[in-house]
Amino acid sequence: MKACILFLSALSLSGCGKPPFVSQADVIVVGAGIAGLAAAIEASDNGASVIVLDANSVGGGHAVKAGGLAMIDTQLQRSKGIEDSPQQATKDLLAWGEDADKKWVTRYAHESGAEVHDWLVNLGVEFKLVLRTPESDVPRFHFTKGTAVHVVLPMLREALKRPNIVFLWNTGADALLSHNQQFIGVRAKNLRTGGRLQLYGGSIVLATGGFQSNMKMVVDNWNASRSRPEKLLIGSGQFATGDGYQLAADAGAELLRMDDQVTFVNGIPDPRDADQGKGLTVINKQAVIINKNGERFVDESLPSKMLETAVFAEPTGPHWMVFDAKGARKLGVRGAAWLNTNSVTSDIVQNPKLTVTAGDLAQLAVLLNVPDENLKRGIGEYNLAANQPIATPPFYALQLYPLTRKSMGGPAVNEKTQVLDRDGLIIKGLYAAGELTGVAGINGSYGGSGTFLGPAVYMGRIAGRAAAINSGFPMDDPDPNVQSTATLPLDVDGYWHYTVSHDAVRANEIECDTCHLQTPMAEAGSSAMMMTRLDTCTHCH
Ligand SMILES: Cc1cc2nc3c(=O)[nH]c(=O)nc-3n(C[C@H](O)[C@H](O)[C@H](O)COP(=O)(O)OP(=O)(O)OC[C@H]3O[C@@H](n4cnc5c(N)ncnc54)[C@H](O)[C@@H]3O)c2cc1C
Repeated sequence: MKACILFLSALSLSGCGKPPFVSQADVIVVGAGIAGLAAAIEASDNGASVIVLDANSVGGGHAVKAGGLAMIDTQLQRSKGIEDSPQQATKDLLAWGEDADKKWVTRYAHESGAEVHDWLVNLGVEFKLVLRTPESDVPRFHFTKGTAVHVVLPMLREALKRPNIVFLWNTGADALLSHNQQFIGVRAKNLRTGGRLQLYGGSIVLATGGFQSNMKMVVDNWNASRSRPEKLLIGSGQFATGDGYQLAADAGAELLRMDDQVTFVNGIPDPRDADQGKGLTVINKQAVIINKNGERFVDESLPSKMLETAVFAEPTGPHWMVFDAKGARKLGVRGAAWLNTNSVTSDIVQNPKLTVTAGDLAQLAVLLNVPDENLKRGIGEYNLAANQPIATPPFYALQLYPLTRKSMGGPAVNEKTQVLDRDGLIIKGLYAAGELTGVAGINGSYGGSGTFLGPAVYMGRIAGRAAAINSGFPMDDPDPNVQSTATLPLDVDGYWHYTVSHDAVRANEIECDTCHLQTPMAEAGSSAMMMTRLDTCTHCH
């Protein structure tokens, strides 16, 4: 292994146009989400030089929006008197997921306490809270003082401090490079300047996350046992475009469990999203859900696994969340920075494009075109058991849509996260971790609580370690005869995060100085500048 990153002279493999920027390191990590960061830190710990590239201008991936981590038999659980065991957790996870990968579940259940919890705590993560979830009577859903942004920020800080890790932001991988049947590099594009890059590495770790914002992939891989929705909303991040799946497939990888997808059933269109593709999630404990016949068909308090099953067992057609004037005040909406109590009322409850409003239930039934006896029966049943009946006019019906969220399938990997081909053979030089792999099947068919973030860290570490150990650099100099997989279109806007963060600042009337006293008004080109910028993440996340 070479312990330093070499910057080579410009060399064009394509032989035309401006020569690409060429660089090399022991390990190339594609994606700076929670899995990629874990891989980079672990590879660096094992003496490797690392280049991390990310299509976004900031790191952390989906974890900045996420909540907690499921971890088993941790110091925090013990300090709170919670008795947990790897055996119990294995049983719970396998039962919930129904067809989860038993080997990975067992490993994770046995090792997450030390390999995820203690490792993160050593990086400075402070877990404060452990919650019970529908999967088990044992509380194991760990939270910091807020969202998982407080998990990835210490990871990012740690990675940025390391001299043997170099980050390339706004840099999307669009092809993999191979030589003598071994993957030795990544071709990439700067999404702001259009500049081309060729990055060579002894090992390549793909950690590009799921495909839930690529509607074609979601629909093409729709689970045949579920009714096919007429409309689906995007509930995943801008960069969940599925690039890693294409890169891995083009490299010969087998893709497993692609139809295992977490699709929430409580989505509504984001009224401030111009193309109406993005969705928000709504929760309301003082509401009923009805189908296209006005029937209440499910207990709304059930966990999302059961709600999903009930909704997708219904014939396709609209379903509605119905509540009254008191319930309107309980409506919780998540998924955009502009949301607050006032905007939920003005943009959602009082928005006739989203919400139907009526003075009484008979009128609501007419407006929804459902039999009024069905609607009244469902609400009557709910009211019999409810502390707070649905009885105070006006009455509202908010149309719900399925909303994409998390991918539970992807490239097949072995126990070291080496990517496997369709014959089960190792694709040399290529590793994959995190949601891209459906966290190795740990969730089976049904996502659990916190069973993406924790396993993404776990797998990232395994990938980083194995990639560093196996990164004997195959060539002294990049050889002009390297092969390339097909080039992905990569049409993501490199200024996306800049635009949304500044839109949120304007919507919430935040002063420029709130961020810019700390950070310069310039692109975060160096690790030192990015480190300063991290202090501002929690203003929005
Ligand atoms: C709103 C929300 C809430 C969630 N809550 C929870 C929760 O409470 N608990 C839980 O366990 N899980 C939760 N999840 C799921 C969890 O956040 C993700 O599964 C996890 O963060 C995935 O991490 P990752 O590193 O594998 O991928 P990602 O976080 O998706 O990171 C992938 C990175 O790769 C980059 N990338 C993509 N394509 C390219 C390319 N071609 N070139 C270069 N870079 C590229 C992306 O920009 C991104 O930074 C939630 C997800 C969402 C959307």
